[in-house]
Amino acid sequence: MAARIKSLPETLVNQIAAGEVVERPASALKELIENSLDAGAARVEIEIEDGGRRLLRVVDNGEGILAEDLVHALDRHATSKITSLRDLELVASLGFRGEALPSIASVSRLLLASRTADQENGTLIQVDGGVAAAPAPVGMAPGTRVEVRDLFYNTPARRKFLKAERTEFGHIDTLVKRFALARFGVEFRLTHNGKTVRHLPCAETPEAHLRRVAKLCGPAFMQHAIAVSCVEAELSLTGWIGLATFSRSQADMQYLYINGRMVRDRVVSHALRQAYSDVLYHGRHPAYVLYLEMNPGMVDVNVHPTKQEVRFRDSHRVHGFLSSGVQRALAQVTPGTPERNADTAQPARFQSPTPDHSDQSQSQAGLDLALGEPRPQYTSFSNRAAGSGWIAPAPLYEEAKGECPPLGYAVAQLHGVFIVAQNAAGMVLVDMHAAHERITYERFKTALDADGIKSQLLLVPQRISVSEQEADRVESRPELFNRMGFDVNRSGPEQIMVRAIPALLHGTDVAELMRDVCADALRVGTSERLGEAVNSLLSSMACHGSVRANRRLNTEEMNALLRDMERTERSGQCNHGRPTWVQLDMAELDRLFLRGR
Ligand code: ADP
Ligand code: MG
Repeated sequence: MAARIKSLPETLVNQIAAGEVVERPASALKELIENSLDAGAARVEIEIEDGGRRLLRVVDNGEGILAEDLVHALDRHATSKITSLRDLELVASLGFRGEALPSIASVSRLLLASRTADQENGTLIQVDGGVAAAPAPVGMAPGTRVEVRDLFYNTPARRKFLKAERTEFGHIDTLVKRFALARFGVEFRLTHNGKTVRHLPCAETPEAHLRRVAKLCGPAFMQHAIAVSCVEAELSLTGWIGLATFSRSQADMQYLYINGRMVRDRVVSHALRQAYSDVLYHGRHPAYVLYLEMNPGMVDVNVHPTKQEVRFRDSHRVHGFLSSGVQRALAQVTPGTPERNADTAQPARFQSPTPDHSDQSQSQAGLDLALGEPRPQYTSFSNRAAGSGWIAPAPLYEEAKGECPPLGYAVAQLHGVFIVAQNAAGMVLVDMHAAHERITYERFKTALDADGIKSQLLLVPQRISVSEQEADRVESRPELFNRMGFDVNRSGPEQIMVRAIPALLHGTDVAELMRDVCADALRVGTSERLGEAVNSLLSSMACHGSVRANRRLNTEEMNALLRDMERTERSGQCNHGRPTWVQLDMAELDRLFLRGR
């Protein structure tokens, strides 16, 4: 017999809705902070206990809720923010669906207390698993206080999915960072287990804005970023974009706000990737903090319960505006800044503007192809090579009568990406970066198996700004970094001190290398065994130490790379499994020209 159809009890409806908006403590907190900001708060204090599992408390000094409305705040689909479809189309508040508070209340023990400026007392209401007690008066300053205790206590299946305290708090901290970047005029304080983790006073002036961004994204970002500002009818873009010198191995420093709302959107991220495409190496991610303002009618924010996704009425136009705006800003980088290297065809990273990389000039010439200082395009390398005694001048094919090595001899470099070589069978094309990456990786593995990865002391120890989580990782897993050839320790809450790096990467940009390795080390689980962790980090270190696209090599360097490939196991594929070289023999070339022999 068919099951009968019945309406669901309200608490269950709310719990189902909670599944969409409340995934973890950070997502509940997001809703609470949005409510505070919608209420015009100038100060938002956030107190967390046990990564948010025991307590999330948000206290604001916003406009508050009238006593008689307090119970309605907990009703499903009850909101003070919109009243009509027209409002929905032009919504300017962060919330509007009226489901956050009832959803959170259905899966926690919630306390809501609020007082408007013209009321003498506040009113407090407590809800336990969706069941509300009668409102009671309470003494409090104007504003609103919301406490969420024991999240998911009544939905054990969900509670099981919560991660360790540290991980959950990491999400919370990231969230607070995002809000703090969006609302300079609001003071934020975040405490965890009674300890203040972040305090950001209200930032009124442009200088104060910069200070806040530096505090949240790190001083290194500010040193390697430029301001953007462009306007077009109904669209404006402002903010800061990181130069290619501050690229990241992960897309973890990308903040984009549309009308004050943090969004993750495919159109937007594609536009930004495109804007960076000719300055950033493949696989690197740009860092940016950008504010896109537009007529609210041009964007629909009601496409997803958490409102992180949006839909543009004219996504083509938004895409073009963003990508050309950022591209133009990047192109306008003045001489002296690292990006203006088109004339020397040297990748930006070889011309570090900061004095702390000065030890690069000490790097030995030779097979560390990714290394070396900038040198003019037309200067012959051979004098230097002879001086350093590393590279024996290799004969060109014509001179090399008789036997020819399998990959032959280089004749040219194509667009800074490929080596064209001539061998006995015909033509060889080599992907420089892929090939060099494989060689470096194999060397690391061989070294690890033999007597460990050799490290090389830096002439001057370097202090590097990293995130707090990254510094934590350096502190908590010294053996991991030692095994990879680093001598590094924590020197501050968001700072590490590097004394030695793997000798194989000698001369590389230490700051960039460390930032990548730290970011990668965070991805490796805390429980992963040392050996496994090291292996998964080596391959990305190898990528780091390898020739990047657009690096101009001379004939000797190209031939040295070909000889290295012949000597290296598995050099036919890069670490990602793509081929590193292809052979086109004379017969195939003839066929291309329809030339019958
Ligand atoms: P929404 O934000 O979509 O309106 P919520 O469930 O998050 O729905 O909140 C319901 C209502 O409660 C809001 O519309 C607002 O009127 C009120 N409210 C919630 N939090 C606050 C706060 N911190 N300050 C003032 N009013 C609040
Ligand atoms: Mg809300």
